Amino acid sequence: MTKKERAQIFEQFLEDKYPIVICSLNYQTPFQLLTATILSAQCTDKRVNIVTKDLFEKYPNPFALANANHEDVAAIIKSTGMFNMKTKNIISMAKSLVENHGGEVPSEMDELLALAGVGRKTANVVRGNLWQKPGVVVDTHVKRITKRIGLTTNTDPEKVERDLEKIVKGEKHCDWCHRIIYFGREICTSQKPKCEICGVSHACKYYASL
Ligand code: SF4
Repeated sequence: MTKKERAQIFEQFLEDKYPIVICSLNYQTPFQLLTATILSAQCTDKRVNIVTKDLFEKYPNPFALANANHEDVAAIIKSTGMFNMKTKNIISMAKSLVENHGGEVPSEMDELLALAGVGRKTANVVRGNLWQKPGVVVDTHVKRITKRIGLTTNTDPEKVERDLEKIVKGEKHCDWCHRIIYFGREICTSQKPKCEICGVSHACKYYASL
């Protein structure tokens, strides 16, 4: 089976299995999605949603967060891990939005990457969910599962992104990544993937090698 065939079978499988997908981070504005995504590094979305409920109540927009006290913010987001660095990043990000973008989140990739705490993964989450812009979100699930299926052999996230953007149409990137994340949580888990009930094992390179 060619990579293209695997990709097509996998894409159809995901669309059938998870017809409706949504971002699992809670947000009401672009600023809130950007902040929540920065906080989600090495943390579950569930935990981030608990923390952002309090955070956004106190700091609902970049103007409020830009003037926040480091210790106050750190105390709220502590349970997301790496909290000192994340606190520094989100306050600095908010300051940049206020100073350079009139308090709005920019949509261009290079402008997003210039913000503290924002890498390609975060930028793609924001661009895809807010503006349906193309960009594969290479998170831990996407990285693991696309390698298992046989859609990439790379481990470097940027190289994985390049491989995957060639096989999935740009307008589908955002939902495709959401679907893989659902699939990764439910079936193709990091430890002991449930291959026997998977549904797409016939197109999986890892399964063929067992
Ligand atoms: S067969 Fe196993 S490794 Fe392959 S996609 Fe399914 S659950 Fe994942």
